[in-house]
Amino acid sequence: QIAEWKKLRDEPTVSADGKHVELAANIGTPNDVNGVIDNGGEGVGLYRTEFLYMGRDKLPSEEIQYNAYRTVLENMKGKPVVVRTLDIGGDKELPYLDLPKEMNPFLGFRAIRLCLDRQDIFRTQLRALLRASAHGDLRIMFPMIATLGEFRAARDLLLEEKAKLREEGKEVSDSIQLGIMVEIPSTAVLADQFAKEVDFFSIGTNDLIQYTMAADRMNERVSYLYQPYNPAILRLIKIVIDAAHAQGKWTGMCGEMAGDSTAIPLLLGLGLDEFSMSATSILPARSQISKLSAAEMKEMAAKALQLSTAEEVAALVQSSVQ
Ligand code: PEP
Ligand code: MG
Repeated sequence: QIAEWKKLRDEPTVSADGKHVELAANIGTPNDVNGVIDNGGEGVGLYRTEFLYMGRDKLPSEEIQYNAYRTVLENMKGKPVVVRTLDIGGDKELPYLDLPKEMNPFLGFRAIRLCLDRQDIFRTQLRALLRASAHGDLRIMFPMIATLGEFRAARDLLLEEKAKLREEGKEVSDSIQLGIMVEIPSTAVLADQFAKEVDFFSIGTNDLIQYTMAADRMNERVSYLYQPYNPAILRLIKIVIDAAHAQGKWTGMCGEMAGDSTAIPLLLGLGLDEFSMSATSILPARSQISKLSAAEMKEMAAKALQLSTAEEVAALVQSSVQ
């Protein structure tokens, strides 16, 4: 099997009936890029920038960040790289920010909420990203967007920093795609409105499932509620993909679900354009997709959306793909 996967390393990802999708990787540091290339990644679908901020005693400078982003873009050699702006808070703490303890950190002051408040932190990151954009196919995405107002505010800060850099005579790409993570149900439900203003969506199922089911993703006692195949989750995913396509935009997924072999047939059937996963899952996923008919998976997904439980959905997938 491993030999079969290796042969697919430099091949595109195509279903048995000829539908193309993109398989990208999730990374946390510039060093992870080697693994992406070795495993045949067609891009980086999620660069989690938190690690740049963790494991040090103060904020990383614009220069430190610029070097990291530039390294990733250069080593990906023109392939798309989706960088997520700082997603701190919730389970990820930064001791030097000295933020007050919260009753519900996952529902609290985190990610874009913090960045829109601490503009000094956010603008530094945006400048580093904009400067790095001259070195590859950079795409920027904002985490934990709950309202269009948040997206617009973040976008406006980006545009301000871009204008400043241009005035300073710095090179900035003209074709940076700007997207959001869909990890909050309000944003999935309102995806048709968002789709008019963003260039792409990336569905963050790790959080989307947690917030939709109201089940802490870290709490084992409620893990029975953490159900990727629940039809409620599938319907939200469908809303997002359809809304993007209606506006000629693309939708990716960067939560764990994107690399799950039971979910992949459903996601292919729902029309997902990009699957971003841990690098080691890419070749098995490419192999799996090459044996699936996208047209058949579309019919199966339509049936799955009409089922009532996660167990029924999993059984349907098992009986449809074997
Ligand atoms: C997600 O929520 O699905 C996601 C990819 O982000 P993280 O796991 O970093 O919260
Ligand atoms: Mg998340």
